[in-house]
Amino acid sequence: MSKVAVYPGSFDPITSGHADIIHRISDLFDEVIVLIAKAPQKQSMFTPEERKALIEETFSNLPNVKVDIHEGLTVQYMNKKNAKIIVRGLRAVVDYEYELTMANMNRRLEPSVETMLVYASPQYSFISSRGVKEVAANGGKLEGLVPPNVAKAIMEKMNY
Ligand code: ADP
Repeated sequence: MSKVAVYPGSFDPITSGHADIIHRISDLFDEVIVLIAKAPQKQSMFTPEERKALIEETFSNLPNVKVDIHEGLTVQYMNKKNAKIIVRGLRAVVDYEYELTMANMNRRLEPSVETMLVYASPQYSFISSRGVKEVAANGGKLEGLVPPNVAKAIMEKMNY
């Protein structure tokens, strides 16, 4: 049976921290699906389709990394794909409570789905999509915070 990991998130935009997690888990699973959560009420910098294109571009050299967009509960997507493993990243203690609550809610909704937490590499553990947007909005340097193609897309979006 091929082992599929689903890595769900907003990815608005994908950061070097997300990319590091995806690289690392792509070595461990047959297939990694980066699942972009479509939340119509949430203000975003990039549309889900733009985010998908950026992630696909970043991982064009890794054939076992796929990108999908989903609106609704992650467990519904898991059932549709018959996938059993959700991966989430953990940067610091502040992430823990949120991740614990969500993992337990998902277990309640679908007991056969397991959530696995992967620790952020220390050099990326301070990076968040929100932080990146704040740096970008104020003209700060994006190098190293996001993959190069994403930095370029942000600059275009901000009309820099
Ligand atoms: P969400 O809006 O669902 O929290 P994000 O796109 O912010 O989605 O993040 C998706 C997942 O990646 C979450 O598990 C988050 O903790 C993790 N993550 C975010 N930033 C980093 C980082 N710098 N390093 C490792 N994991 C991260």
